[in-house]
Amino acid sequence: MVDMSHTNNQIVLLGICSDENSSHLKGTAKAPPLIRKALHNGSANLTAENGISLADTAIFTDIGDFEIAAGKESFMAIEEKISPILQQGNLPLTLGGDHAITYPIMRAIAKHHPSVTILHFDAHPDLYEELDGNRLSHACPFARIMEEGLASRLIQVGIRTLNLHQKQQAEKFSVEVHEMSTFDIAQFALNLSGPVYISFDIDALDPAFAPGVSHFEPGGLSVRDVLTIIQKINVPIIGADIVEYNPVNDINNMTAMVAAKLVKEIGAMMMATNVTEQQSMEI
Ligand code: MN
Ligand code: MN
Repeated sequence: MVDMSHTNNQIVLLGICSDENSSHLKGTAKAPPLIRKALHNGSANLTAENGISLADTAIFTDIGDFEIAAGKESFMAIEEKISPILQQGNLPLTLGGDHAITYPIMRAIAKHHPSVTILHFDAHPDLYEELDGNRLSHACPFARIMEEGLASRLIQVGIRTLNLHQKQQAEKFSVEVHEMSTFDIAQFALNLSGPVYISFDIDALDPAFAPGVSHFEPGGLSVRDVLTIIQKINVPIIGADIVEYNPVNDINNMTAMVAAKLVKEIGAMMMATNVTEQQSMEI
């Protein structure tokens, strides 16, 4: 177990309102306040399935949403939002925004965690060298992350769009790709040696569970599949992002509720896997 006695171990929720690097459809910049609204809509309490409540302000803080201006400086601005959270010994839980934001987040994470495993849920590998001339596209973040050595290991789950170029990229970066065509939750196991960062693209889920996404890709994971995988993590989860919720395509806010459920369950697992003895007595 990592010595976390020097940290504050608070989960810090923040929203990054940015969709400038979306290739197909804008709208994810509007997601963070809607996910928060779903989380607090009164239809459910804030206790996760592991018994930890996000209502406990000693462990969970919400610092609000940040409008990130478009342009070259936007990635530096995102990195600068994440770095102070880590410097204070806390654990960032970021709401997107499109998936492009994970690259600058990982630049901040890597400075504090030199050897981190990324557990990446997505229908898409997001490993393009470039898309439409944009190397910072939401189709490219994991190519940038692996080129810069910002993670020691990348595990992808939910993949069902692996074309030849991305297959070559996955091989080049030794990505562990778990494709949906062979996925079996009963057999699925992650051999993690922490710390781990979770990057959750909502389109990893089947559109039947989460229609509010920019890139519909049928044949995906169920909400219960992803909760089962996340709840079995037994190494410190040092940060997470939940990206690509697009309210433009949502139906009855159902995808916002799924994203809010993920905030609750991932947040509570971040707490469970980083808990100090003193904190465990207080919970
Ligand atoms: Mn995706
Ligand atoms: Mn993605």
